[in-house]
Amino acid sequence: MRLKEYLIDSLMNLTSDGIVIVDVNGSVLEVNKKFEELHGWTREEVIGKVLPMVPEHYKADALRLYQSLINGEQIKNFEALKLRKDGSAFYASVTVSPVKNTEGLVIGFVGVERDISEKKKAEEELLEREKQFRKLLKLNPEPIALHMDGFIQFANDACCKLFGGASSDEFKGRSIYDFFCPNDKHLIKARLQQVMQADLDGYSEFIERKMRKLDGTFFDAEISSTYVYKNMGNPVVQSVIRDLTERKKSEEAIIRSEKLSLIGQLAAGIAHDIRNPLTSLKGFVHLLKSKNTDYVDVMMEELEHINYVVNEFMTLAKPHLNYFIESKVLELVQSVIGFLKPHAHLYNVQIQLEMDQEIPIIYCIPDQIKQVLINVLKNAIESMVSGGVIQISFRSSLNQFLVISVKDQGIGISEERLTQLGEPFFTTKANGTGLGLMVCKRIVEGHGGKLSILSKINQGTTVEIELPIVNSIYQI
Ligand code: ADP
Ligand code: MG
Repeated sequence: MRLKEYLIDSLMNLTSDGIVIVDVNGSVLEVNKKFEELHGWTREEVIGKVLPMVPEHYKADALRLYQSLINGEQIKNFEALKLRKDGSAFYASVTVSPVKNTEGLVIGFVGVERDISEKKKAEEELLEREKQFRKLLKLNPEPIALHMDGFIQFANDACCKLFGGASSDEFKGRSIYDFFCPNDKHLIKARLQQVMQADLDGYSEFIERKMRKLDGTFFDAEISSTYVYKNMGNPVVQSVIRDLTERKKSEEAIIRSEKLSLIGQLAAGIAHDIRNPLTSLKGFVHLLKSKNTDYVDVMMEELEHINYVVNEFMTLAKPHLNYFIESKVLELVQSVIGFLKPHAHLYNVQIQLEMDQEIPIIYCIPDQIKQVLINVLKNAIESMVSGGVIQISFRSSLNQFLVISVKDQGIGISEERLTQLGEPFFTTKANGTGLGLMVCKRIVEGHGGKLSILSKINQGTTVEIELPIVNSIYQI
């Protein structure tokens, strides 16, 4: 019997949990060493007493629990604040079991307390850190949205402002595709898929896209997405959106001013081109007076030509809508060749178009592509001081790009000059702006393409304009 008591006593004091045994009135019958440690009372101080272990504001809860205990129910792993002798408190996970006599009546309770202060502290720290992280994200000056499965979970203040919302709630739960052009859905989806397939921290380069504000208006933006963490197995993606409105505006101003200067430089040739047929028209009209009407057909042709050149001139000079449409490259090239014919005549240059293959459709802003072609062709013409031939040909690369190649027989560009091309204000011409190639590059890159120049001095230059073809756009 003494051995059994000894063993029970050892058991009580070996466990790392505090144990207290009380009768139905709450008077302490026994406590173990850990209980003394946790609460700061000695065994002698507490035996026979009802201990003030429950903080004032939890008293009501405690009373409710006491009721279920009296009814014979056990309370398991209940997290509660417990008081020490000095009045301070600690977090404990508490299990209280009623003890019954042989008749099934509750005669007392055994309480086991596990100190979880450390765990609680870690939890609180985590919560605090999360709060700080949220705050950091919320107040980040870059517009940022978090989304999962294509649905927005959170939009920070800068993002709300950019899209014209008052708070994150206006975005929460909405599909990210509501904020893009419907045409872009495949592209965006494919990019997100790529980001999520990459390891954590995989991110996509910035791409330029039109985006839609809450009020339905569109603006130019660039977006990059990063796979940041998993939430219950689902990848959460963070997208950073930058407003390009201002940048686009100034870029467009440069593109436009270069265009006007280009047109201005061509005006002399065009005037010449109109004057010649006008002179012959004058002559024919004169002859018509003698009733020889066969000349009328020729007159009509000449008039058509004037009409064409003047129309093309007017279309180019007018500011146009700047949006992407599917366009036939061949038609763009042909129209530019027609337009530049007078200029080519002045330089005694012929333009040959090789079109022995089917030329794909590209997705572009036709006016801008025309502008690129005009500048590249005009440069080519002007490089041939003693005349020659310009060859325009097409080929496809990697089945994804169309390459338009413009080859001249001009003076060429030296290697050191070649590295300067594309920088603004580099020109060798008296009336040149030195902005042409820079603008061309910018336009082609804005279309997801590339402009490259190969040249040999005194042999000629080849400019290659690479543009994505329509079928490949969705696979980028
Ligand atoms: P600009 O035509 O107003 O001078 P660009 O940017 O179009 O401006 O061209 C810059 C310079 O690059 C030209 O002045 C010329 O010296 C050189 N260049 C461009 N294209 C050719 C070419 N096909 N052959 C020789 N030189 C060229
Ligand atoms: Mg030029």
